[in-house]
Amino acid sequence: MKYISLGSGSRGNATLIMEQQRAVLIDCGFNRKTLLQRLEQAATDPRQLEAVFVTHEHGDHARGVVLVCEALNIPFYTSFGTARQMQWTEHPLWRCIHSDQLVSVGKLALLPVVVPHDAAEPLQFVVENSAGKRLGVLSDLGSLTPHIISCYSDCHALQLEANHDPQMLQNGPYPPSLRARVAGNFGHLSNQQCAELIRRVHWHGLQQVSAGHISEKNNARELVRAELSPVLDCPPQQVRLLEQDQISGWLELA
Ligand SMILES: [Zn+2]
Ligand SMILES: [Zn+2]
Repeated sequence: MKYISLGSGSRGNATLIMEQQRAVLIDCGFNRKTLLQRLEQAATDPRQLEAVFVTHEHGDHARGVVLVCEALNIPFYTSFGTARQMQWTEHPLWRCIHSDQLVSVGKLALLPVVVPHDAAEPLQFVVENSAGKRLGVLSDLGSLTPHIISCYSDCHALQLEANHDPQMLQNGPYPPSLRARVAGNFGHLSNQQCAELIRRVHWHGLQQVSAGHISEKNNARELVRAELSPVLDCPPQQVRLLEQDQISGWLELA
């Protein structure tokens, strides 16, 4: 299994996961043109895509889903709550998924995990291949629950949210209501909460950790590096951070 971020942040998210030349996408928060450009940069033929899984209805995750899936004639999977919110329940390409019920697509199995976020019925995903390698993709959550810790505990790779620095958020440009939303239990993970999550799920099998959905206004990349480097036991420069406007490198789970 190999995976790549096609972009991460409040202006759009998409993560491509490939197993034996077939791929699924988690979220499609870019328009069709941008998504196709990023796929090309990742040397991926769009025809390799088998399905799109959508975590929730916010535009930075759902913007391009329908047009991309219609163009490629592939299904998109969401919770019922997300589909109802987006008025997708009558769409012929929509497939309903349920939390804690495994979905198989090609050689991959995806476990939808309920997260606390201010959306209708948000889910995040743990992806497993037939060799038992697991990638946990987790963003857009305001707090850590015992269920999340348990579901992400035995992953070999993690792509996590490190959204904001609490102090920068408090002193930043957001109005008080938005500030409270982001910092709240149904908002986004701070750098410290991301580090806490890593501490709680760390095990000897964990090979790769990347941090994304980094706020452009309420965070600084050096702060994320400084917070995560002790728990990852690596120098700050080696902490892997995702970018909004660029694809990451491919990472492979052997
Ligand atoms: Zn988001
Ligand atoms: Zn969101």
